[in-house]
Amino acid sequence: MPDIIQLLPDHVANQIAAGEVVQRPASVVKELLENSIDAEATEIKLLIKDAGKSLIQVIDNGIGMSETDARLAFERHATSKIKTAEDLFNLTTKGFRGEALASIVAISHVEIKTKPTIKELGTQIKLEGSKVISQHTIATPTGTSIAVKHLFYNIPARRNFLKSNSVETRHIIDEFQRVALAHPDISFSFFHNDGELFNLKKGNLRQRIVAILGSKTNEKLVPISEETDIVKIEGFITKPNFAKKKRGEQFFFVNDRFIKHGYLHHAVVSAFEGLLAHGYHPSYFLYLRVPATTLDVNIHPTKTEVKFDNEHALYAIIRSTIKHSLGQYNVAPVLDFNKDATLDVPYDFKQKKAVTPKIKVDPAFNPFETEKKSGSGYRKEQNGNWDSLYVNIQDDAMAIENIEVDAQEVSQELFDEQVSGRTAKTFQIHQKYILSVIKSGMVLIDQNLAHQRILYEEFLTKITIEEAACQQLLFPIELNFTSVEAQLVKDMRSDLESLGFQFETIAADLIVIKGIPMLLKESEVRPILEELLENIRHEIPENSFSQLDIIAKSLAKSMAIKNGVKLTTIEQEELLEKLFLCKEPNHSPYGKNTFITLPLEEIQLKFDN
Ligand code: ADP
Ligand code: MG
Repeated sequence: MPDIIQLLPDHVANQIAAGEVVQRPASVVKELLENSIDAEATEIKLLIKDAGKSLIQVIDNGIGMSETDARLAFERHATSKIKTAEDLFNLTTKGFRGEALASIVAISHVEIKTKPTIKELGTQIKLEGSKVISQHTIATPTGTSIAVKHLFYNIPARRNFLKSNSVETRHIIDEFQRVALAHPDISFSFFHNDGELFNLKKGNLRQRIVAILGSKTNEKLVPISEETDIVKIEGFITKPNFAKKKRGEQFFFVNDRFIKHGYLHHAVVSAFEGLLAHGYHPSYFLYLRVPATTLDVNIHPTKTEVKFDNEHALYAIIRSTIKHSLGQYNVAPVLDFNKDATLDVPYDFKQKKAVTPKIKVDPAFNPFETEKKSGSGYRKEQNGNWDSLYVNIQDDAMAIENIEVDAQEVSQELFDEQVSGRTAKTFQIHQKYILSVIKSGMVLIDQNLAHQRILYEEFLTKITIEEAACQQLLFPIELNFTSVEAQLVKDMRSDLESLGFQFETIAADLIVIKGIPMLLKESEVRPILEELLENIRHEIPENSFSQLDIIAKSLAKSMAIKNGVKLTTIEQEELLEKLFLCKEPNHSPYGKNTFITLPLEEIQLKFDN
């Protein structure tokens, strides 16, 4: 048998390695920004075209590279950051694997311009798919500019896997924000297709957070600060009353590196125990500093997952520090829900040996529970033909006439009126449910959820088929959003317009709206857009259809008739009729049951026992 094993040529090996390091344009952004930070830059500029698909450029004023280094930088395992394996356990830089640039250049066209401080002239090198195309000596400022063009040009499969521009841009913004939040002492600017998305001046941490997340954030921040032998913690949490329905902004940085860490995340969340209503999430910006020797960042190529030596101790310290701050800033309740006293004494921690935290949670306790548990055993899917479900109400009218309900007074006259088609008489109960009679028993509709379904399907039709009616505003509404939010609105503009919104301006900080959908009240525009942006930000749509879907869903949710609203008989009937004309009447757009049926047999059973 002939020998069949051969060494892969370098360019193939680099392409394979690139698959690990570069998943999407945002990965390139992260690697380039981190290199600039390692190069001690104080000013970093990011330029993006077409969501990074045609250009990603990072320009810094860092230490630059000599001519030889600039050539070497694109070789695999070429790094200035470690020399021996031992160095791995005492890292102070972001990079160290020496494979980012090699990977990037294997799958794109790259142009680098760089000059170290001490030299008069710099170097320009152009590469395509790992091959050097040209090299010149040029005049260029101190520092480095790396432009990455035509990402994945030689791996069409990867290119086809990229999502829509708005999704890829969002990933880039996420990476940019993480790096910028980790380094408030560096100025960053970010241009997308020549429009400026961010201009972040050097400042302190609070200023950086506010510059990125908007001025409204300032009042929400509660500072955190603690220092022990094993960790120094700085940063902010947001007050519990500003907690978000969707996972809010949650950032952990360790030694200036953004990380994801489920266990430590749990420590933060558990410190908020008893303070947040069910389904709400705290925001946090926590900066941990630990000795480099106690941290392993080498477990994942993108280095966002790390391992600590002292995870249990860190858990306890983080939890008690946050609890302490919540208490100090008077945002914790007087009652202490914590059952484990050992976790509540952060200050003698320095002398103590760390204890493994015991997490005790009383699963039955929920101080915010206001709604009664729905104990109904009547939930039953009804997918049958609704026509056959309905009977002429008149037979049943006498039987239900005396039920005490909140409904409008039902006059005899109305009652006797011939009920056309399948619509039956309705009653509103507790200004929340609509009751109606069907052949097999009765049906109870949740007015809010049912209306959500109706609006949702209407919106989907409008977005995809017809134009929606728009009401022109006499005085345009001006709304202030952050530049990222404005960008999102821009991305959604045509979808929103097909729903009846009309925009006069969508600029970095100001959105002017001159028309709104027919059904919408002017006072609701702001909250609805805010909720929409929140949903879009956290349910990153995977394609443009799901973006439409999210828009339709959240508009439907915000605009649906609320519980507690009295409905006239006509409105009740309309709701009922429209619901059962929907394609999927059984569920709200968010998957909740819109109605339940109570079959006669089950009602009878209740009387039989
Ligand atoms: P790593 O960051 O892991 O060392 P990279 O492939 O990202 O590997 O970079 C290779 C080398 O190129 C770095 O070690 C550094 O010496 C040099 N380099 C990369 N980007 C810059 C930059 N913006 N300024 C100065 N030197 C840089
Ligand atoms: Mg690097």
